[in-house]
Amino acid sequence: MHTFSLDRPTTPDAAVASAAQAKTAQQGADVRFIAGGTTLVDLMKLNAETPARLLDINRLPLDAIEATPDGGLKIGATARNSTLAYHPIVQRDYPVVSQAILSGASAQLRNMATTAGNILQRTRCVYFRNTAMPCNKREPGTGCPAIDGGNRMLAILGVSDHCIATNPSDMCVALAALEATIHVHGPTGVRAIPFADFHLLPGDTPDRETVLEAGDLITHVTLPPPVAGSKQHYLKLRDRASYEFALASAAVVLSIADEKVTRVRIALGGVGTKPWRSPEAEAVLVGLPATQDQFRKAAEAALRDAKPQSENRFKVELAKRCLVHALKTAMTA
Ligand SMILES: Cc1cc2nc3c(=O)[nH]c(=O)nc-3n(C[C@H](O)[C@H](O)[C@H](O)COP(=O)(O)OP(=O)(O)OC[C@H]3O[C@@H](n4cnc5c(N)ncnc54)[C@H](O)[C@@H]3O)c2cc1C
Ligand code: SF4
Repeated sequence: MHTFSLDRPTTPDAAVASAAQAKTAQQGADVRFIAGGTTLVDLMKLNAETPARLLDINRLPLDAIEATPDGGLKIGATARNSTLAYHPIVQRDYPVVSQAILSGASAQLRNMATTAGNILQRTRCVYFRNTAMPCNKREPGTGCPAIDGGNRMLAILGVSDHCIATNPSDMCVALAALEATIHVHGPTGVRAIPFADFHLLPGDTPDRETVLEAGDLITHVTLPPPVAGSKQHYLKLRDRASYEFALASAAVVLSIADEKVTRVRIALGGVGTKPWRSPEAEAVLVGLPATQDQFRKAAEAALRDAKPQSENRFKVELAKRCLVHALKTAMTA
């Protein structure tokens, strides 16, 4: 592993001032925050990431999970994934978050992993993690061997000619469906970013994964108040029952009255280059009976623009069935 220095700032201002010295935005930058380290240290061991300076943010007062005055929830950036998944408010009002987190990684990893680290985890594309291979995301302009290579696990929505890497997070799929907001403290002040605007499509700059700029520290995430009577479910389909990333997943938040859908939020995982909210699927459902036929039409709409690669055509049908099953299961929640 390459050499690096480690600092432990004790205030958000100090952390941001140090990180603002980075030459680029956070992902891939030479000065980096480190929280649980379960993504970053992994990639440093592989030399896929080589920051010169790490800023350990675990001493910052950013780990609280608390109700907001409007009835929503504020989740600190360094709150551990396990703490969040088992928090009583989350289990009562946002079970889709709990289900998504607990479907991922292992108990040990979830005990280390943090809210912000999870949101910023990087793709599991094998070429990205292998420095013997070219990769536009790791080294812009070198090419994308996945497009004509091993792409079974990779994305079918939001892909470009430069990168087809999947966003691997489960928690993010639930946060997309719940319309979370990400709060950032940066060199020029604080700002709030709607979850849907936070991650970027790869386009011709796959190295740039989010709207974060150099020095930007995620301080917390907020969830809006839960919709009374809504039913939620997260379904994850994968190659083995645990300790595996999604081939396809779906988070749904569903409200029904008189057997008709009055409101629905849908996001997909394992198939998109970013956590994939599907307004197309939502539009198909609202105002109509909550039937399996209608769920299937919504799934068709969600995958209409899919661009499968040589090895992952199966994901198109898998994702459709995943969404239909998630909606059916939510009905009984
Ligand atoms: C074997 C294995 C299996 C896994 N399986 C799954 C799975 O099935 N599903 C799933 O969703 N995830 C899975 N994960 C990924 C895991 O969820 C992430 O590694 C974890 O959430 C990252 O959190 P962290 O705090 O450890 O991040 P870190 O490694 O500390 O940081 C990750 C990134 O976020 C940046 N960062 C951290 N905090 C901040 C902040 N406050 N502001 C700005 N930047 C910040 C860092 O600079 C770094 O770029 C798995 C990981 C491993 C190793
Ligand atoms: S899909 Fe993206 S991350 Fe994977 S090799 Fe291509 S450019 Fe790199």
